[in-house]
Amino acid sequence: MARLRVLSVASEVFPIVKTGGLADVTGALPHALARESIDVSTLLPGYPAVREVARAATEVLALDELFGGPARVLAANSAGLDLFILDAPHLYDRFGGPYVGPDGNDWPDNAFRFAALGRVGALIGSGAVGSYRPDVIHAHDWQAGMVCAYVHYAPQRGPATILTIHNLAFAGRFAASVMPALGLPSQAYSVEGIEYYGDVSYLKAGLQFADRITTVSPTYALEIMTPESGMGFDGLLRARADRFSGILNGIDADVWDPVHDSFISATYDAAQVAKRSANAAALRRRFALDERPDALLVGIVSRLSWQKGLDLLLDALPVLVGRNLQFAVLGAGDPALEAGFTAAVAAHRGRIGVYIGYDEAVAHLMQAGSDVVLVPSRFEPCGLTQLCALRYGAIPVVSRVGGLADTIIDANEMALAAGVATGIQFAPPTSAALEAAINRAAQLFAQPAVWQRMQRNAMAADVSWDRSGTQYARLYRDALASR
Ligand code: ADP
Repeated sequence: MARLRVLSVASEVFPIVKTGGLADVTGALPHALARESIDVSTLLPGYPAVREVARAATEVLALDELFGGPARVLAANSAGLDLFILDAPHLYDRFGGPYVGPDGNDWPDNAFRFAALGRVGALIGSGAVGSYRPDVIHAHDWQAGMVCAYVHYAPQRGPATILTIHNLAFAGRFAASVMPALGLPSQAYSVEGIEYYGDVSYLKAGLQFADRITTVSPTYALEIMTPESGMGFDGLLRARADRFSGILNGIDADVWDPVHDSFISATYDAAQVAKRSANAAALRRRFALDERPDALLVGIVSRLSWQKGLDLLLDALPVLVGRNLQFAVLGAGDPALEAGFTAAVAAHRGRIGVYIGYDEAVAHLMQAGSDVVLVPSRFEPCGLTQLCALRYGAIPVVSRVGGLADTIIDANEMALAAGVATGIQFAPPTSAALEAAINRAAQLFAQPAVWQRMQRNAMAADVSWDRSGTQYARLYRDALASR
């Protein structure tokens, strides 16, 4: 099969810059695609975190003017990834997050920071960098959406374009007053272009002009074609339904591997689930929980935001802590939720432990030591936490939405009888349904043979990138062939 060249355009890539699951995907997909004869290079903004990598890079393109200052494209290889770094200090080299400044607000010039990313992606697509010319440009989320518009309006035909929606909640919406600076033809400001309710949306630029659109699970694809979940994009997505599909994410099977995991107390495989008890003991100590090995230990690793539904857990906690249950919560985000969990610890010491923060090592211990990993999201494009849980034999208890619906086999009567259950799903996302789901988990936990069968099923589930890599490869070739 002919090798394909794909330029991935992304605002974050693990292990270089990460704020969420997007980085895990853009960091892992190039490795999975290499097995499909696809060479991926990734275009990434030159934030401070990227400068370390940029030190060993070579300049491949210089621009006198890019949204208010000079810029360069640097080529580098880091962590096994081929990178193009957009070195534009006036846009990216500043103290703060990729999207948000130290004051917690979006950078005021995000419209230009991410238009620049798109414009340079299209330039590279047109062959501006030496002999490099990608067959396909794969844009991730609104931050990269504009590359599809710049390729569309370029004078020559460029590469095929793919947009992947990792989270529709972020539209990349800016005032229409940015239009003149974007350098697009005036007709781009229209319903058929990037206009969005009187503003512009960079996500819409991708949705409108990409040759193919994907999102990260089949169920989320269906959900966002409805007015309830479509955030104003459902009409456009329905109109482009023949170009739109869902491809599940995987997880990095080397990073998340209970057989070789230096963060946990006891490593184990599917035949040794009893060894998880050493991790449970370590987890109880880490979260100052009472030593109660008979209690069902429920773990949470999550951003604390409305999306993730953890307020539902807070509502149900007063009842749940009266049962033989313990909770360990690792997360950060919404101050009200942080305060809610901190107060819950004070009220129910030994029953619930909370660690406000972001910590990879504790996340691994959580997967290896919890009996259940709870993911009660109101919406979830794919979700990675439940995939990690499967691999570690922590039974996922999840709301039946998006990728959670697609990746967990609910322990209903038939699934239990057939011996295929891997977790528990509940709907709708309410505290009553969450409470009932945890009760179901506790009942199954009380039947060791049934529980261990579920653990073995969970650990045998294919959560790797292999299947998805094959699907993306097919999509790229298909998009290219149909041009
Ligand atoms: P999202 O990208 O919406 O936050 P995902 O489930 O797709 O949710 O991915 C979240 C990733 O970030 C997972 O790998 C999860 O383990 C990790 N994560 C989330 N919160 C924390 C935290 N507080 N500490 C460590 N890892 C975290």
